[in-house]
Parts: sequence; structure tokens; C-alpha cells
Amino acid sequence: MPAPGAILTIDLDAIAANYRLLAGRAPGVDCAAVVKADAYGLGVAEVAPVLWRAGARRFFVAQAGEGIALRAVLPQAEIGILNGLSPGEAAEYLTHGLVPVLNDLGQIDEWRAAARAAQRRLPAILQTDTGMARLGMEPREHAILAGAPERLEGLELRMVMSHLACADIPGHPMTPAQIRLFAEQCAMLPRAPRSLANSAGVLLGPECHFEVLRPGVALYGGNPIPDRPSPLSPCVRLEGKILQLRQIDPHRSVGYGATFRAPEKARLATIAVGYADGYLRAAGNQASAYWRDIRLPLVGRVSMDLITLDVSAVPEGALKPGETVDLLGPRYGVDELARDAGTIPYEILTDLGPRYARRYRQAEMHAA
Ligand SMILES: *Cc1c(COP(=O)(O)O)cnc(C)c1O
Repeated sequence: MPAPGAILTIDLDAIAANYRLLAGRAPGVDCAAVVKADAYGLGVAEVAPVLWRAGARRFFVAQAGEGIALRAVLPQAEIGILNGLSPGEAAEYLTHGLVPVLNDLGQIDEWRAAARAAQRRLPAILQTDTGMARLGMEPREHAILAGAPERLEGLELRMVMSHLACADIPGHPMTPAQIRLFAEQCAMLPRAPRSLANSAGVLLGPECHFEVLRPGVALYGGNPIPDRPSPLSPCVRLEGKILQLRQIDPHRSVGYGATFRAPEKARLATIAVGYADGYLRAAGNQASAYWRDIRLPLVGRVSMDLITLDVSAVPEGALKPGETVDLLGPRYGVDELARDAGTIPYEILTDLGPRYARRYRQAEMHAA
């Protein structure tokens, strides 16, 4: 087998440690785990059992198809489907034991009809909109529901939830406004555990916590509040293979568009990773890699399958083709690459490419 262009190592122990850290921020509050988009690109089949063993019992994915895949991995978990119930999907939800996040009255009616047909109570999560204007019940629907509580008959309300819009910006006035509105809306609904906090909300503090936490990105080591130091353990390492080394004369250009010119003599390494691997093109001339503790600036544009690093700072002869450098690692992780590429760690994680050789690391002992 030819060697891959890069090796992605996913540290499952670090994911478990992050779960425990987040859950520990709110003692007595249940901590769900959001594992949508293949556990933010890290592999739900590997990640979800680790979160289960760390204590998570409630899980969220975006789509019903993701829920069906997760059910095969976690037979006992509560699996909530954030995108809600689309017309005609109820039978699939029943077959796989999925809990829809009901986002409007139409979805509530559809699920209640399914309960009637199945002649049993069906679990449900209700979402209310408190400011995202994306998914969830509108004030008008709350009023209708308050006047017709029988519309929830046959449903076993597992949770009422809403989603924070600005929790990544500490002190943003929208957060306390959403907290207040959410509490008011919940008071109009039958009693159920309330959930508002995404990762940033968990870290912001108890006023966001209610009864169930709902972190995603922080489980995977992404810092949800960029202006604050991250308390989380990094979970990914990406080692890119050196294909070629060269020395270039001053003023030679590098890459498409000749966007970089070496100010002086430079040594370059070409690495077998590009935007087809999800290494964002916006990182061109911005990002860094590391060899041990030595920073290697990315020079020139990101190509489809290649990037070019300035390795002049590494002692001559120390690097050889076939060796690797850290594109993500202990010195430079998803938060730093996201900052340099002008994006958020979520996008770095979910773009991690299918061509990488994936290795999962798990040293921790655990009971079956
Ligand atoms: C994705 C998502 C989360 C998790 O958000 P993070 O910022 O990754 O912690 C929680 N709730 C909802 C509704 C989501 O869509």
C-alpha cells in the first residue's frame, strides 16, 4: 500500500476528557453530546461509544439518516434529530427509535398522529425560537399551543430546547435576552428538562445551563469562545507528508498566481495536502505548520493536492522526503488554523478530508 499524503490521528481519550470537563462545569445538570456531521468530521462510529462510556446518554444529530447510523452504534441512547420531522418520516423514526425535535405545530400534529396510530406515547423534544430565526416554534405558535394543550397529548416531552445565537461573544446582550425569553416560553409549556447551552453556553456559566447541556465543537477540542483561552484538550493531529524539498533563489515566486516571492534564499517543502483534502484555500500565505517546535510558514496559494512550506528555519538536511510535518498538532491546532484561514474551528473539523489515513488513539482503560 502506498503511504497516504497525510495521517490524521484522532485522540479519543481527549474527547472523553473534554466531555467530562464540560459536564463538570454544571454539576447536577445532564450533559448531552452533539455528534452531527459525523461527529464534526471525526467519525461518529468511533466517537459516540467513547462519549457513551464517558457518561453521555442523550445524543443529537442533524438528520434522520445520521440518527439511523448512530442507532447501530448506540442501541440504548436517546437520539434527538435537530432538523425535525419532515412529512412522511414518522415511520422511520419509530423503526429506529429516533426522537424528533419538533420545530412547529405541523410537526407536532404529525408526531401526535403517529402516536395515535401506534397506540402509544411517543418521545418528543420541542424547540422554541428565541432569536436564531432558523428552527423552532414562533411566538404565535406558543400562543396557539397554550390555548390548545391537547395538541401535545400522546407525546412524552423529553426536553424543551432553544439555541443561542451569540454565546461565542461574552457580554453580548442577545444572550441574556434569549435566556429570559426561553424561560418565559418554557413556563407556558408542560414541565420538561430545558436545554439552551451549546459549547459556548456551557463555558459562559450557570445562567445558560438550565437542565441539559448540548455541547458539540468543544467535545472535539474546538474553542467555542475565541477571545478566551481554551480549557479544552486538542483532539486531532494532522501530519502531512513531504514530497519534495528544494532551495530557491531570492525573488523566485511560489505557486499559482505567483502570490509569494521569497525575499531571500529559501528552502521549501512541498506537502501532499490541498484544498481537496479540506485544507482551506483561504489559508494560503496565512497558515503555519510545525516541525517539532519550529514554525514553518505556508507560502503561496493552497493547491488542490499540495501546499508549500518555508522550511528555512529547520537545520539543513534534517528533513527528507517521506517524513512528515504537523499541519495540526500540539503547537498549532484547529483554533489557530481557523483564525489564520478566517473561519471557525467547526469548519476546519468538518472539512477534514477523506483522503487522510485515519488513526484513532485510545489508551484509557474502560469497563465494557
Ligand atoms: C450544532 C448544535 C449544537 C452544538 O453547538 P456547538 O456550538 O458545536 O457546541 C447545539 N444545539 C443545536 C441546535 C445545534 O444545531
